[in-house]
Amino acid sequence: MTKKTSQDYINQEDKYGAHNYHPLPVVLEKGEGAYVWDVEGKKYFDFLSAYSAVNQGHCHPKIVKAMTDQAQKLTLTSRAFYNNVLGEYEEYVTKYFGYDKVLPMNTGAEADETAIKLARKWGYKVKGIPQNQAKIIVCNENFHGRTITIISMSTDPDAYNDYGPFTPGFVKIPYNDLTALENELKDPNVAAFLVEPIQGEAGVFVPAEGYLKKSFDLCKKYNVLFIADEVQTGIARTGKLLACDHEGVKADILILGKAISGGVMPVSAVLANDEIMLTIKPGEHGSTFGGNPIAGKVAIAALEVVKDEKLAENAERLGKIFREEFSGIKSHMIELVRGKGLLNAVVIRNQPGKTAWDVCVAMAEAGVLAKPTHGNIIRFAPPLVITEEQLREAMNRIKEVFKKFE
Ligand code: PLP
Repeated sequence: MTKKTSQDYINQEDKYGAHNYHPLPVVLEKGEGAYVWDVEGKKYFDFLSAYSAVNQGHCHPKIVKAMTDQAQKLTLTSRAFYNNVLGEYEEYVTKYFGYDKVLPMNTGAEADETAIKLARKWGYKVKGIPQNQAKIIVCNENFHGRTITIISMSTDPDAYNDYGPFTPGFVKIPYNDLTALENELKDPNVAAFLVEPIQGEAGVFVPAEGYLKKSFDLCKKYNVLFIADEVQTGIARTGKLLACDHEGVKADILILGKAISGGVMPVSAVLANDEIMLTIKPGEHGSTFGGNPIAGKVAIAALEVVKDEKLAENAERLGKIFREEFSGIKSHMIELVRGKGLLNAVVIRNQPGKTAWDVCVAMAEAGVLAKPTHGNIIRFAPPLVITEEQLREAMNRIKEVFKKFE
């Protein structure tokens, strides 16, 4: 039998899969650390890291071992029974992030949904908001996932068009705008402010320094919960364990996903203290797979790797090098470079034949994988295990690509 080519795999996906994604024409079959290989054996630097899920690098041996060891003992019990891993994981993750309790889920979107339910419940049971009146403040250009409730918070027509009717109870304000926030916080029916510390999907929008701390303080002033969606920014990506740590903010509800499993399986988590978490009673919320024994062992291993391999420090140091190097590239196509740690974006001045997509295709040919977003923004987010030498090599390749477009 002849070996299938990349084009064969692409055709197969195109024929049998829904067309809800538009991937670069690269078919990957293997990954290790900061590298991935395609089915023809070509090696690439991965500068997307599965949208920051693979912070610990592809197929990290410690995380994969935790997974395969547990998979041979017990995979799933549901929450109808106790198991001998969940408590260990719950203790580990709550102590790691400094909260009383965790509620385990699977995807980022589910964790966001959980946080919204938790905030509403707290609003009714603790703050005393009249039934069905609770409001949650969110930011324009947010991205929290794809469920109906989450797209009800979205300001991106691609996310919400033709999917209504929508979930009520959300107030949208501009990101990075404290005056708008305070105006809305005055409404006594507001239960929470849900915010990404850096807006990742929007194109790595970094708010003004002090924004998180000041918005947290405003939330406290009006007895409103501050919810940080750190699904993308969390777990060392921005140069600290959490992006909120840059401003010494401890969110009332912390939402984690993606890298909490090192990208080996869907694991997400909502963390909060008892006053908030214990408002949800047995039978009121849950998930068949949430907190399964494999997820527990995998998450412990993935979080250990973050500390053992000093990934936050690496992201902080290499992120500076990345932005310095990129700012040094002389190209009329580069409008601006922004980011924190190893979560960065380059805004491209699109011209015919010279768009962000064209740049990404050329970078793939040069062995560097990144994906454009919103037509003109390229996000650069390599696994945090990348070394300085590897980063500099990748940067050299990227520079060559930009030269070709001059
Ligand atoms: N929240 C943020 C900030 C995200 O960036 C994402 C995904 O990109 C999500 C939530 C949704 O996560 P998932 O795709 O696992 O549902």
